Amino acid sequence: MRQKKLRIADCGLRIGRATIKSAIRNPQSAIALLAFLTLVAPGALPAQQWPVHSMERPRPPVVDPGPERPPVAPPADAVVLFDGKDLEQWQAENGGAAKWVVRDGFLEVAPHTGAIQTKRGFGDVQLHLEWAAPLPATGEGQDRGNSGVFLMTHYEVQVLDSYHSDTYADGQAAAVYGQTPPLVNACRPPGQWQTYDIIFHRPRFTSDGAVRDSARVTVLHNGVLVQDNTIITGWTVHGQRAHYAPHADRLPLQLQDHGHPVRYRDIWIRELREHE
Ligand code: MG
Repeated sequence: MRQKKLRIADCGLRIGRATIKSAIRNPQSAIALLAFLTLVAPGALPAQQWPVHSMERPRPPVVDPGPERPPVAPPADAVVLFDGKDLEQWQAENGGAAKWVVRDGFLEVAPHTGAIQTKRGFGDVQLHLEWAAPLPATGEGQDRGNSGVFLMTHYEVQVLDSYHSDTYADGQAAAVYGQTPPLVNACRPPGQWQTYDIIFHRPRFTSDGAVRDSARVTVLHNGVLVQDNTIITGWTVHGQRAHYAPHADRLPLQLQDHGHPVRYRDIWIRELREHE
Protein backbone atom coordinates (compact mmCIF):
# COMPACT_ATOMS: atom_id res chain seq x y z
CA MET A 1 0.00 0.00 0.00
CA ARG A 2 1.25 3.45 -0.86
CA GLN A 3 2.26 5.37 2.22
CA LYS A 4 0.13 8.46 2.76
CA LYS A 5 2.12 11.60 3.24
CA LEU A 6 1.41 14.59 5.38
CA ARG A 7 1.85 17.53 3.13
CA ILE A 8 2.97 21.09 3.59
CA ALA A 9 2.32 22.08 0.02
CA ASP A 10 3.48 25.66 0.45
CA CYS A 11 7.06 24.73 1.16
CA GLY A 12 7.10 21.41 -0.66
CA LEU A 13 7.80 19.46 2.56
CA ARG A 14 6.67 15.90 2.78
CA ILE A 15 6.77 14.13 6.11
CA GLY A 16 5.78 10.48 6.36
CA ARG A 17 3.27 9.45 9.01
CA ALA A 18 5.94 7.01 10.23
CA THR A 19 8.18 9.99 11.02
CA ILE A 20 5.46 11.58 13.12
CA LYS A 21 4.65 8.30 14.89
CA SER A 22 8.29 7.67 15.72
CA ALA A 23 8.56 11.28 16.89
CA ILE A 24 5.68 10.68 19.30
CA ARG A 25 7.25 7.46 20.60
CA ASN A 26 10.72 8.93 20.79
CA PRO A 27 10.96 12.35 22.44
CA GLN A 28 14.44 12.94 21.06
CA SER A 29 13.32 12.55 17.49
CA ALA A 30 10.26 14.72 18.33
CA ILE A 31 12.60 17.49 19.42
CA ALA A 32 14.62 17.02 16.25
CA LEU A 33 11.47 17.19 14.11
CA LEU A 34 10.26 20.34 15.87
CA ALA A 35 13.66 21.95 15.46
CA PHE A 36 13.62 21.05 11.77
CA LEU A 37 10.15 22.55 11.26
CA THR A 38 11.12 25.68 13.20
CA LEU A 39 14.17 26.11 11.01
CA VAL A 40 12.50 25.40 7.69
CA ALA A 41 8.92 26.63 7.93
CA PRO A 42 9.24 30.39 8.55
CA GLY A 43 11.54 31.02 5.59
CA ALA A 44 9.56 28.68 3.39
CA LEU A 45 6.21 30.34 3.95
CA PRO A 46 6.69 33.98 2.95
CA ALA A 47 3.20 34.24 1.47
CA GLN A 48 1.67 33.27 4.81
CA GLN A 49 3.22 36.03 6.90
CA TRP A 50 0.91 38.84 5.86
CA PRO A 51 -2.85 39.03 5.46
CA VAL A 52 -3.89 39.00 1.80
CA HIS A 53 -3.65 42.50 0.25
CA SER A 54 -2.31 43.98 3.51
CA MET A 55 -1.54 47.70 3.11
CA GLU A 56 0.90 47.30 6.03
CA ARG A 57 3.11 44.95 4.03
CA PRO A 58 6.31 46.78 3.04
CA ARG A 59 6.58 47.83 -0.59
CA PRO A 60 9.62 46.50 -2.45
CA PRO A 61 12.44 48.94 -3.21
CA VAL A 62 12.28 50.73 -6.55
CA VAL A 63 14.92 49.89 -9.17
CA ASP A 64 15.30 51.81 -12.43
CA PRO A 65 15.65 49.08 -15.07
CA GLY A 66 17.01 51.44 -17.74
CA PRO A 67 15.33 52.61 -20.93
CA GLU A 68 12.88 50.55 -22.98
CA ARG A 69 14.38 48.49 -25.78
CA PRO A 70 13.14 47.15 -29.09
CA PRO A 71 12.10 43.49 -29.08
CA VAL A 72 14.57 40.83 -30.17
CA ALA A 73 13.77 37.79 -32.31
CA PRO A 74 12.48 34.76 -30.38
CA PRO A 75 14.62 31.60 -30.13
CA ALA A 76 14.17 29.02 -32.87
CA ASP A 77 12.16 26.54 -30.80
CA ALA A 78 9.70 29.10 -29.39
CA VAL A 79 5.99 28.97 -30.16
CA VAL A 80 5.20 32.51 -31.30
CA LEU A 81 1.88 33.48 -29.73
CA PHE A 82 1.75 37.04 -31.03
CA ASP A 83 4.06 38.53 -33.63
CA GLY A 84 2.23 41.82 -34.08
CA LYS A 85 -0.04 40.69 -36.88
CA ASP A 86 -3.06 38.67 -35.75
CA LEU A 87 -4.82 36.73 -33.00
CA GLU A 88 -4.54 33.39 -34.76
CA GLN A 89 -3.25 31.69 -31.60
CA TRP A 90 -5.94 33.18 -29.33
CA GLN A 91 -9.61 33.00 -28.51
CA ALA A 92 -12.00 34.56 -26.02
CA GLU A 93 -12.12 32.83 -22.64
CA ASN A 94 -15.63 31.61 -23.43
CA GLY A 95 -14.36 30.01 -26.64
CA GLY A 96 -15.52 32.64 -29.17
CA ALA A 97 -13.30 34.90 -31.25
CA ALA A 98 -10.85 37.08 -29.32
CA LYS A 99 -12.12 40.67 -29.48
CA TRP A 100 -9.02 42.58 -28.49
CA VAL A 101 -7.60 45.11 -30.93
CA VAL A 102 -4.52 44.47 -33.10
CA ARG A 103 -2.85 47.52 -34.59
CA ASP A 104 0.61 48.91 -35.31
CA GLY A 105 2.27 45.67 -34.20
CA PHE A 106 0.66 45.45 -30.78
CA LEU A 107 -2.37 43.92 -29.13
CA GLU A 108 -4.60 46.08 -26.93
CA VAL A 109 -7.19 45.04 -24.36
CA ALA A 110 -10.65 46.00 -25.61
CA PRO A 111 -12.07 46.84 -22.18
CA HIS A 112 -14.95 44.70 -20.96
CA THR A 113 -14.76 42.19 -23.83
CA GLY A 114 -13.30 39.58 -21.49
CA ALA A 115 -10.01 37.76 -21.13
CA ILE A 116 -8.31 36.11 -24.08
CA GLN A 117 -6.48 32.81 -23.95
CA THR A 118 -4.33 30.65 -26.15
CA LYS A 119 -6.03 27.94 -28.14
CA ARG A 120 -3.28 25.57 -27.00
CA GLY A 121 -2.61 24.48 -23.48
CA PHE A 122 0.79 24.62 -21.80
CA GLY A 123 2.37 23.20 -18.64
CA ASP A 124 5.98 23.98 -17.70
CA VAL A 125 7.10 26.94 -19.79
CA GLN A 126 9.48 29.78 -20.44
CA LEU A 127 7.38 32.77 -21.49
CA HIS A 128 8.39 36.13 -22.89
CA LEU A 129 6.02 39.03 -23.40
CA GLU A 130 6.06 42.79 -23.45
CA TRP A 131 3.38 45.12 -22.12
CA ALA A 132 2.71 48.81 -21.82
CA ALA A 133 0.35 50.58 -19.43
CA PRO A 134 -1.97 53.25 -20.91
CA LEU A 135 -0.69 56.79 -21.42
CA PRO A 136 -1.85 59.17 -20.12
CA ALA A 137 -2.22 57.19 -16.92
CA THR A 138 -5.59 57.36 -15.24
CA GLY A 139 -6.83 55.98 -11.93
CA GLU A 140 -4.95 54.88 -8.84
CA GLY A 141 -3.80 51.62 -7.30
CA GLN A 142 -5.51 48.58 -8.83
CA ASP A 143 -7.49 50.87 -11.15
CA ARG A 144 -4.42 51.94 -13.12
CA GLY A 145 -3.15 49.93 -16.08
CA ASN A 146 -4.38 46.63 -14.65
CA SER A 147 -4.19 43.42 -16.65
CA GLY A 148 -2.52 40.13 -15.86
CA VAL A 149 -0.69 37.11 -17.18
CA PHE A 150 -2.54 34.00 -16.04
CA LEU A 151 -0.35 30.93 -16.33
CA MET A 152 -2.49 27.84 -16.86
CA THR A 153 -5.51 30.21 -16.47
CA HIS A 154 -5.18 30.07 -12.65
CA TYR A 155 -1.89 31.66 -11.64
CA GLU A 156 -1.62 35.43 -12.18
CA VAL A 157 1.56 37.40 -12.53
CA GLN A 158 0.15 40.88 -12.09
CA VAL A 159 0.35 43.49 -14.84
CA LEU A 160 -0.21 46.94 -13.36
CA ASP A 161 1.09 50.47 -13.70
CA SER A 162 3.15 50.53 -10.50
CA TYR A 163 5.36 53.42 -11.64
CA HIS A 164 5.08 56.03 -8.90
CA SER A 165 1.72 54.49 -8.05
CA ASP A 166 1.01 52.69 -4.81
CA THR A 167 -1.13 49.66 -4.09
CA TYR A 168 -0.92 46.67 -1.76
CA ALA A 169 2.43 44.91 -2.17
CA ASP A 170 0.98 41.55 -3.21
CA GLY A 171 -0.97 43.24 -6.01
CA GLN A 172 1.63 45.47 -7.65
CA ALA A 173 3.28 44.79 -11.01
CA ALA A 174 5.05 41.40 -11.14
CA ALA A 175 3.45 40.17 -7.91
CA VAL A 176 2.10 36.66 -7.75
CA TYR A 177 -1.31 38.19 -7.19
CA GLY A 178 -2.52 38.04 -3.62
CA GLN A 179 0.53 36.04 -2.53
CA THR A 180 4.04 37.30 -3.14
CA PRO A 181 5.21 40.84 -4.00
CA PRO A 182 8.11 41.25 -6.43
CA LEU A 183 11.59 41.48 -4.90
CA VAL A 184 11.88 45.00 -6.34
CA ASN A 185 9.67 47.40 -8.28
CA ALA A 186 11.31 47.54 -11.72
CA CYS A 187 8.48 49.35 -13.52
CA ARG A 188 9.00 51.69 -16.42
CA PRO A 189 6.71 54.69 -16.87
CA PRO A 190 3.27 54.20 -18.44
CA GLY A 191 3.36 54.16 -22.24
CA GLN A 192 6.82 52.54 -22.30
CA TRP A 193 7.32 48.89 -23.22
CA GLN A 194 8.19 46.54 -20.38
CA THR A 195 9.29 42.92 -20.56
CA TYR A 196 8.35 39.87 -18.52
CA ASP A 197 10.47 36.76 -18.80
CA ILE A 198 8.77 34.02 -16.84
CA ILE A 199 9.84 30.48 -15.99
CA PHE A 200 6.92 28.49 -14.66
CA HIS A 201 6.70 24.98 -13.30
CA ARG A 202 3.17 23.71 -13.00
CA PRO A 203 1.79 22.07 -9.87
CA ARG A 204 1.68 18.29 -9.70
CA PHE A 205 -1.30 16.54 -8.20
CA THR A 206 -1.63 12.99 -6.95
CA SER A 207 -4.26 10.72 -8.47
CA ASP A 208 -6.54 11.48 -5.51
CA GLY A 209 -6.26 15.24 -6.16
CA ALA A 210 -3.83 16.24 -3.39
CA VAL A 211 -0.99 18.63 -4.19
CA ARG A 212 2.24 16.70 -4.67
CA ASP A 213 4.31 19.71 -5.79
CA SER A 214 3.28 23.35 -5.66
CA ALA A 215 3.76 25.47 -8.78
CA ARG A 216 6.84 27.69 -8.90
CA VAL A 217 7.60 30.82 -10.85
CA THR A 218 10.64 32.92 -11.67
CA VAL A 219 10.08 36.35 -13.22
CA LEU A 220 12.43 38.93 -14.69
CA HIS A 221 10.77 42.32 -15.09
CA ASN A 222 12.64 44.49 -17.57
CA GLY A 223 15.59 42.13 -17.09
CA VAL A 224 15.53 42.48 -13.29
CA LEU A 225 14.88 39.42 -11.10
CA VAL A 226 11.59 39.98 -9.26
CA GLN A 227 10.35 36.45 -8.48
CA ASP A 228 13.05 33.91 -7.64
CA ASN A 229 11.60 30.40 -7.92
CA THR A 230 8.63 31.60 -5.87
CA ILE A 231 6.28 28.96 -4.54
CA ILE A 232 2.73 29.58 -5.72
CA THR A 233 0.38 28.70 -2.87
CA GLY A 234 -2.74 28.05 -4.96
CA TRP A 235 -5.03 29.61 -7.56
CA THR A 236 -4.53 33.38 -7.44
CA VAL A 237 -7.74 34.92 -6.18
CA HIS A 238 -8.85 38.33 -4.94
CA GLY A 239 -9.22 38.98 -1.25
CA GLN A 240 -8.82 35.49 0.12
CA ARG A 241 -6.16 32.96 0.96
CA ALA A 242 -5.20 30.90 -2.07
CA HIS A 243 -5.69 27.18 -2.27
CA TYR A 244 -5.24 24.57 -4.96
CA ALA A 245 -7.78 22.59 -6.87
CA PRO A 246 -6.55 19.87 -9.21
CA HIS A 247 -6.53 20.54 -12.95
CA ALA A 248 -5.15 19.26 -16.24
CA ASP A 249 -1.42 19.07 -16.99
CA ARG A 250 -1.81 21.63 -19.77
CA LEU A 251 -4.06 24.67 -19.74
CA PRO A 252 -4.20 27.87 -21.82
CA LEU A 253 -2.20 30.99 -21.11
CA GLN A 254 -4.66 33.78 -20.40
CA LEU A 255 -4.39 37.58 -20.50
CA GLN A 256 -6.73 39.52 -18.24
CA ASP A 257 -9.25 42.17 -19.22
CA HIS A 258 -9.44 44.40 -16.14
CA GLY A 259 -11.13 47.21 -18.06
CA HIS A 260 -7.95 49.08 -19.01
CA PRO A 261 -6.45 49.35 -22.54
CA VAL A 262 -3.11 47.71 -21.67
CA ARG A 263 -1.00 46.75 -24.69
CA TYR A 264 1.00 43.59 -25.42
CA ARG A 265 3.53 42.65 -28.05
CA ASP A 266 6.22 40.06 -28.81
CA ILE A 267 4.67 37.09 -26.99
CA TRP A 268 6.42 33.74 -27.30
CA ILE A 269 6.63 30.61 -25.24
CA ARG A 270 8.90 27.57 -24.96
CA GLU A 271 7.60 24.35 -23.51
CA LEU A 272 9.99 22.89 -20.95
CA ARG A 273 10.64 19.19 -20.85
CA GLU A 274 9.42 17.26 -17.86
CA HIS A 275 12.08 16.56 -15.28
CA GLU A 276 10.63 13.19 -14.42
MG1 MG B 1 -4.55 41.95 -12.83
